[in-house]
Amino acid sequence: FPFRIFVNRSLALEKIKCFGFDMDYTLAMYKSPDYEEMAFQLLQERLVCIGYPHEILEYKYDPTFPTRGLVFDALYGNLLKVDYHGNLLVCTHGFRFLKGAEIWNYYPNKFIQRDDMKRFHILNTLFNLTETYLYACLVDFFTSCSRYVNCDTGYKHGNLFMSFRSMFQDVREAMDHPTGCYCASLRSLTQPRVTLLLSRMKEVGKVFLATNSDYNYTDVSEEPLQRPWRSYFDLIVVDTRKPLFFAEGTVLRQVNTDTGKLWIGTYTGPLQHCAVYSGGSSDMVCDLLGVKGKDILYIGDHIFGDILKSKKRQGWRTFLVVPELAKELQVWTEKSGEPQGRGGSLLGRGMWLCYAHSMCESPFTNSFPWLLQMPHESTVEHVHVELSESGLLTGHRLNQLSFYGQQVSG
Ligand SMILES: [Mg+2]
Repeated sequence: FPFRIFVNRSLALEKIKCFGFDMDYTLAMYKSPDYEEMAFQLLQERLVCIGYPHEILEYKYDPTFPTRGLVFDALYGNLLKVDYHGNLLVCTHGFRFLKGAEIWNYYPNKFIQRDDMKRFHILNTLFNLTETYLYACLVDFFTSCSRYVNCDTGYKHGNLFMSFRSMFQDVREAMDHPTGCYCASLRSLTQPRVTLLLSRMKEVGKVFLATNSDYNYTDVSEEPLQRPWRSYFDLIVVDTRKPLFFAEGTVLRQVNTDTGKLWIGTYTGPLQHCAVYSGGSSDMVCDLLGVKGKDILYIGDHIFGDILKSKKRQGWRTFLVVPELAKELQVWTEKSGEPQGRGGSLLGRGMWLCYAHSMCESPFTNSFPWLLQMPHESTVEHVHVELSESGLLTGHRLNQLSFYGQQVSG
């Protein structure tokens, strides 16, 4: 699908006065599977540190197994692929794919109440891939290890009972541990295209960065750019705590870019060139930049944090980055033999797409497919546009993505 755009809603780009970006997995990509391998290893080591058996270190990360958008059932320890309504499509216990009666036994009606957030955890970012794979490894290990007795909701070891829920908690805590997964060394801007894109956007409007990461993590000054990275933006906000950012937000402070520390007190002055702010809210972004919500096109990779809340609460136009779409389309094309068909049927197949329901799909190129959502525009006929070699949105190289295992065939 090189050089093509698929849309099912219109967006008048000339009306966009301001372009906002998320950082991680939007402007900056992680080398894959190197990043996941390293993150997985750090998680394993952390779990061993807190008392998990050394044998779990023997598992090696397999990028073909996990995929984004799976649900971890903290009651039974299963990984589930469900559709938008909560109907089960695929279910694994460890690496074992459950079939028919077994699934019905766990899940009457082959259905889950996805609103039960205490039990069902949606693993919906690319950062969750290693975690997803780790759940499969842990369940696989404890299920087959003779020292542990298998129970419905966990494992017994002498007088100890380890529930799947506690396992989930341990993994989450390991991820939040300072030695955890978030390593910037395997991250890079997809340049030079990104800097060209930002420069051209800045010619026609304002450009800002709003990321949940802190300043030190966001700082990409080690990247070999033509000019200081901060100069590509009219406004940089770190520590945004999206989706809270799109509601009441937090205190807006200014970052001392020499030390990375925050200035004391709330920032109340006008926008300063090349300054970096911390916290705040989407309203403050509008005030500082002098734009309205509907003037903004915000581009991000997180369906809830970046897209749904900014759209629903603030009326921002939104643009969801979905790198897997290229592979999804390939699978879909191979299966259906209908490369020009509507994307709707694709939505039923892709695992992560369960939460992208009702959005429209827009793979710009086979190596840089993004999903566009423009909910404030009326629905139009499916349009298929040839994108020229104009350069802006073509030719990006994403890191190799191969998160598609057996699940996609479900
Ligand atoms: Mg992101």
